[in-house]
Amino acid sequence: MAVKLTIGGEKIALGERKKVFLRVAALYDYTDINIPIEVIRGKADGPTLFISAAIHGDEINGVEIAKRVLKRVKADKLKGTLIIIPIVNVFGFNNLSRYLPDRRDLNRSFPGSKNGSLAARLASIFMKEIVVRCTHGIDLHTGAVHRANLPQIRACLDDPETKILAKSFGVPVLINSSLRDGSLREAARRKGIPMLLFEGGEALRFEEDVIKSGVKGCMSVIRSLGMLPKLKAQSDKPAKKVFIANDSSWVRAPHSGAFVATKKLGAHVTKGDVLAKISDPFGSEEYDVLAETSGIIIGLTRIPLVNCGDAMFHIATFSNVKHVKSAIELYDEGMLL
Ligand SMILES: [Zn+2]
Repeated sequence: MAVKLTIGGEKIALGERKKVFLRVAALYDYTDINIPIEVIRGKADGPTLFISAAIHGDEINGVEIAKRVLKRVKADKLKGTLIIIPIVNVFGFNNLSRYLPDRRDLNRSFPGSKNGSLAARLASIFMKEIVVRCTHGIDLHTGAVHRANLPQIRACLDDPETKILAKSFGVPVLINSSLRDGSLREAARRKGIPMLLFEGGEALRFEEDVIKSGVKGCMSVIRSLGMLPKLKAQSDKPAKKVFIANDSSWVRAPHSGAFVATKKLGAHVTKGDVLAKISDPFGSEEYDVLAETSGIIIGLTRIPLVNCGDAMFHIATFSNVKHVKSAIELYDEGMLL
């Protein structure tokens, strides 16, 4: 491990814990825009892990997850360095928006450039100051606005190291997700840094079950990387069962109207099951929304109004869906403790 670590011009010594405000831009009135960062450095050697949230500014479950992870980690016990960035897209966060003021999506703007758009400049600073200093990363997301996701990990599972990291997070559902052009995950991969993307809940909400799931997952990764000692209970228990989805697809509305869902997030559905009923304003005409495959509902829309063709239910398929269902139930019980 490099003895010297400098972020945003601030030196962070071994064994030190420090808040850094990384200046990335200014508002029209010259008010500085800073990304808040907390760095915890252990005295002993170890990996450097970053945990980032709110790259999409309205996806705020991760902001709370990051805050709670910060509370749990003490520098005197840590091996290596933890860099936590609770809010990356500070513009979007302050405006309750996914985007930057120019309507660009920061997670399509990596690795960015020094002389590019506002999004490209912010991405470039983030890469230079944070990502390239790290050996591993976790990026925390939620569904888009009015869409909810079952807690899940998306990662490039063809890479063995990333796969181990993904399993150690401990959520039952893993999605082997291809890299999106311009995403932080793609940029990190190009630098050879294994990275996980956690998805859970919906935008603009604090959802306690999702937050607990994210905190447990991050802590579990930190322990699995050897940055903190394993919990005694953790080493005694058999490893949590995790399942990799074979595929996933959206069920779209077969008709416009208002709908009542008959299946919930995390439900096990069989091909042909009724997922929702769409009706006209009088309730005299009804259209069934049917599952086109058997699987688990990993995402859904929260607005009960649809146009014909709107995405309604995201269903992931698995080789043994019944096992996945029981793992999800067990996992949910664990979150209630
Ligand atoms: Zn997102």
